[in-house]
Amino acid sequence: MSNIRENLLRVQERIEKVARRAGRDPAGIKLVAVSKTVEVARIREAIDAGVTILGENYVQEAQKKIEEIGKPISWHFIGHLQSNKAKYAVRLFDMIHSVDSIPLAEELDRRAEKEDRKIEVMIEVNLSGEATKFGTEEAKTFDIAQKIFNLNHLSLVGLMTMPPYFEDPELSRPYYVQLRQLMEKMAEAGIPLKELSMGMSNDFEVAIEEGATYVRVGTAIFGERPKK
Ligand SMILES: *Cc1c(COP(=O)(O)O)cnc(C)c1O
Repeated sequence: MSNIRENLLRVQERIEKVARRAGRDPAGIKLVAVSKTVEVARIREAIDAGVTILGENYVQEAQKKIEEIGKPISWHFIGHLQSNKAKYAVRLFDMIHSVDSIPLAEELDRRAEKEDRKIEVMIEVNLSGEATKFGTEEAKTFDIAQKIFNLNHLSLVGLMTMPPYFEDPELSRPYYVQLRQLMEKMAEAGIPLKELSMGMSNDFEVAIEEGATYVRVGTAIFGERPKK
């Protein structure tokens, strides 16, 4: 068995175990295999082993892979998106986890209209203040969500966050609690969402305990990435 297959099995087992322990249906937790910097041959191994959703951070890098691998797979964009790449993003991806401003949402909507597509999106919320660069501040989430609800070619499905990196996964928990609570507040305000994209290799179990419906796992499946 290749190590990717083995790694994937182990991650899937851990997801299932923590879901059951938390009283959740494991089928409600979708695994996004994060394949940034991973070459096509290794991505194919992951697909052969059962991966159905791939997550990419860079439009250009993803474009090459998507052209080679194609679309039996669902491709999700999880990185920071610049408006001038929106055109490509709506062509290439089935879901965008990282919408963080009204201008970006409007540009995606315009581009999706031209492509005659409707794209599922999430709002990336920066709950850690200065510690991470991207995502909108919590206070602006409502306005962005209202805006997206009025756009015909975007469908808002959830919220995404990425806490700072901690050795100890328990330190991520407050961020994941905060994102879940934000989703609850939005539901009370008439904006019901269903997805929470949160949890990475080092802390996806904590995220699942707090309600994650998408976990984004790279290293635990593909191994360490080369340092930049
Ligand atoms: C790289 C990345 C991940 C995966 O990180 P790992 O620690 O390798 O699991 C998840 N989400 C985002 C937004 C990323 O950029």
